[in-house]
Amino acid sequence: MKHSLLWLVLLPGCDIFTVPATDAGTDDTGTTPPGTTVYDALSFSEEELRSDGDGRYVVKVDVPAGATSFQVTSTSPQLPALESVTDPDGNEILDWQDLIQSPRSLTNAIYPQRTDVAFNWPIREVDGALKPGKYKVEWALVDDSFNYVADGKVTASTVIKRDPDFSQGEVHVRIVYAEGIDQLPKVTNAVEAAVEHWREVWGSVGVTLVERYDTSDLDASLDFTWSGDPSVKKIADTKEPGELQLIVGETVRGEQYIYGVSAGIPGTIEPTKNTFVVLAWTTHAGPDGNFSDNDIMVMGETMAHETGHYMGLFHPVEGTWNNWDALDDTVECNGQLQCNRDLGENLMYPYSLCGGSTCRSQYILTDDQGGVFQRAVGSL
Ligand SMILES: [Zn+2]
Repeated sequence: MKHSLLWLVLLPGCDIFTVPATDAGTDDTGTTPPGTTVYDALSFSEEELRSDGDGRYVVKVDVPAGATSFQVTSTSPQLPALESVTDPDGNEILDWQDLIQSPRSLTNAIYPQRTDVAFNWPIREVDGALKPGKYKVEWALVDDSFNYVADGKVTASTVIKRDPDFSQGEVHVRIVYAEGIDQLPKVTNAVEAAVEHWREVWGSVGVTLVERYDTSDLDASLDFTWSGDPSVKKIADTKEPGELQLIVGETVRGEQYIYGVSAGIPGTIEPTKNTFVVLAWTTHAGPDGNFSDNDIMVMGETMAHETGHYMGLFHPVEGTWNNWDALDDTVECNGQLQCNRDLGENLMYPYSLCGGSTCRSQYILTDDQGGVFQRAVGSL
């Protein structure tokens, strides 16, 4: 999420539940061929699972030789949360308790916040290459009060990609106008101009943006932003495999200072109620309702920033100034002044830095940030 610093709004905190993981679940898998030319994934598979008596389940990912990254998406009427990941050699390579205690964020899959949660691996270059064999991805299922849910229904889908090139990648994004927005030429013109700036920013780390436009009857007040909605799933069901969705609406539920929101870090490439990044056009246009060149620049950077979250990037520093991303080459600053100076031009900085009616350009991506993009399954 990105705000304007002029009206600094604190993000909602994450309430955490406790209790360590136990080994449980089923390991049935079924594989269907991708059947597409747009998305050159090695395989898509989906399985129906139920959590065990302790509210846990396991998704086994069978990684063939030549595969380079995978994404597991858990979908349930309840809230899934990642607990641990074990590699084919039996080494536990990730544990939610370590991640929660760390001030450096690696994945938000550990937080039970939505009904659709995605986990991508590997995330960074230092995570090493994917190994052929069976990865064990353990999850918990909890309810709104963070109590474990026994015998709860889950659909787990897995996508495995084989793109070996982590220096260049193509990301396909479907830009979907919410109801009526395509009838406003001043908005569609500004969106198209902003997309050109977005393309430039991503291009600096070898990511090629391939966009297309679509219209929809989605709610322009973006009321679905915080919890997802079946209307989003219905639109997502018609997207191409591997495509991301950027939904352009008016505001995020009337919040006039929120530029945009990503439904996950990372977000899922599967069609779900939470397959979206949203962009609020009125926040960018400002009180006069018109787009200046600076407004268009900021809007392009919001597009690149929010879809950056969707691909797995965190803010290099959070507005509390004591939480950072887990990347080595983004400065670990302390305090607003130092952070504004050292990271204020980074694409993933949490706030716009504006004076009067103009904002600074936030366009910089580091090599490690580029590496996260390239490992995401949405980048081929
Ligand atoms: Zn953000």
